Formats: sequence, structure tokens, C-alpha cells
Amino acid sequence: MASRVPLLLIFANLQGALCWGELGHATIAYVAQNFVSTSTAAWAQDLLDDTSTSYLASIASWADSYRETTAGAFSAPFHYIDAEDDPPSDCNVDYDRDCTDAGCSISAIANYTTRVSDTSLGTEQQAEALKFLVHFLGDITQPLHDEAYEVGGNDIDVTYQGYSDNLHSDWDTYMPESYAGDYSLTNAKAWAKTLTTAINSGSYKSLAASWIKGADITDPITSAMTWAVDANALVCTVVMPDGAAALSDADDLYPTYYDSVIPTIELQLAKAGYRLANWLDAIYTDTVAKRGLEGTEGEGSAVVKREAAAPQSWALPASKPLTRAQMARAESGYKCNHSKRGGHSHSH
Ligand SMILES: [Zn+2]
Ligand SMILES: [Zn+2]
Repeated sequence: MASRVPLLLIFANLQGALCWGELGHATIAYVAQNFVSTSTAAWAQDLLDDTSTSYLASIASWADSYRETTAGAFSAPFHYIDAEDDPPSDCNVDYDRDCTDAGCSISAIANYTTRVSDTSLGTEQQAEALKFLVHFLGDITQPLHDEAYEVGGNDIDVTYQGYSDNLHSDWDTYMPESYAGDYSLTNAKAWAKTLTTAINSGSYKSLAASWIKGADITDPITSAMTWAVDANALVCTVVMPDGAAALSDADDLYPTYYDSVIPTIELQLAKAGYRLANWLDAIYTDTVAKRGLEGTEGEGSAVVKREAAAPQSWALPASKPLTRAQMARAESGYKCNHSKRGGHSHSH
């Protein structure tokens, strides 16, 4: 089958393989940087060996490039949990039903939450765990990363600003870029500043406490499931309240649909950044600081090699045969924007 895909489209697919695009992930990371404690920031900067003012933003999309490598291919399923619900009439997530043996965003967050403060793994593995967490706490707030329907909207063909797109890529990348400009750390930082102000003194001030309610690093499965359920519900209420056909049939999703969803995109980025800061603060105060920062060097490279950062079996639900939707996701290579057409192509 692959031999029938024109080379041009393969390149287009590679370009479109980012979840929340780089702009979204960097924005989330800057929001988190604005809220973490000074101690957490110093710990993260030390782990990442980066004392710059973009220490989290710079690595926020690392997981998307890593999964394209042979060594990182195991992590491709960690960017989603594919809820097999029935939007727009019924949205729900079920960990036992929706997380497969290959792992999912929930199991990955649990696994890397444990690993990031485990000094026996060594600095390199801890830094990798931190890079994964910065990315996955972002992905989980993108509603279509918590949805199996049409491979998370990848197979919903739409027109956006005159381009033939799929709905997933518009949510990940093109609608955020319509709002804040093309990807650059400068644009991300500016957007994060606006969101930070809204959290501190604006329209998000009364909401922020609810975003981190129940977050508990000692029960990361339950915590991450709360975030997945929250975002998945938006598939029914905001992403496709009138069903997918209404979106495919629309002349252009811009500006009417865009106007209806961009406040939610902003909200989700703010949520992700605020949660990430809270999560990292909890990891720092509850585990790192308690141990006294003594061992940032690993004790044995054998441990590091053995782990290979695979999902821990304790975090996964009982093994079961793959469903049709899960097979479709596996066949897609777990990419964002795996569209046959190759993503953002001009329709006229
Ligand atoms: Zn991702
Ligand atoms: Zn995506």
C-alpha cells in the first residue's frame, strides 16, 4: 500500500505530524514557566541543562520529533487516548476500554511522572521523562487527542481558509496559527503572556482552581483521566456539536466555525499550562525536595538501558483484542494528520 503513496504526500505527512502544533505546545510551556515555583524552575533547568528563559518551551515539541525516530517509535501511541464513544450525542472516556497494550497518554503520564524524579535512572532518563510530561500534559487538552471517532478527526475532510484540511490538523495547528501567527517562540511567548494575565486577573481567574482540582501525583491515572474526560466532553459540545458531516459540508470553517471554537482553544492551552506548572511543582515538592536534591546523577547505566522508557505494565489496563478503531489508529502509524491527501493542500 505504501508504495502507492506519492513521495510528495509522504513529505506532507511528515510536516503534519505534530500534535497541538509547535505553537500550541510552546505556548503551554511558557504558561507553565510563568507559574512554576522558583525551585521547580531551577530543578527543571538543571535537569534539561538549559538556564535560558525558554527552557520548557524549547523542548515542548521534542516528543513529536522523537516518535518519528526508530528509537522513539514506541512512544507514538502515548500522544492520545482514543475514546470509543459516540459524538456528538455521547462523549465519554473509559481507561480500561480505550487504553491499549501499546500505551496511551494516561499510562504515559503516569509512567513519566514516576520516572522524572527517580534518580536511579540517571539525569538523561529523568530529562527525557520531563520532556514527555511537558508534551503530554499539552496533548491531553486537545479534544481530538481524546477521541477515536474518524481517527481523532484525521479522517474528517474540511475546508479551512480555502485549504483542504482535516479537522484534526485545523485544531492542532491552523486555527491556533490563525489566532496568534505562525509558529515562533516569540509568538508563543506573547500568547502565553495574554493567557497568564487572564489566569492571574482576567476571565480565567475564577476557573483556574477547578483546572487542577483533584490533581495528585500519587494517583496519576485518575488525575490524567480527569483531564481526558474534560477535553473529550468538548468533542460533543464544541468540536462537532452538529456532527462531523456538518463540518465536511460547510463551504469553509473560517470564519464562522473558527469563531465558535477559538475561545475553547485558548482555554485549553491555558488549562494545560496551568496544570503542567502545578504538576511539576507537586513532583518537585513531594519527591525531589524531600529527597534533598542529592542524587541527580544516575547510579547505574544498566538500569537506564534496561528501561528504554517503555510503558510500565502496572499502569496499563488488562490486555484485550484491538477494536476496529484501535486497529485504524495503529495502521495510521499513530500520527497526527495522517490524511491520505497529506494535510494542508490548496483546494483551488
Ligand atoms: Zn503529541
Ligand atoms: Zn494532533
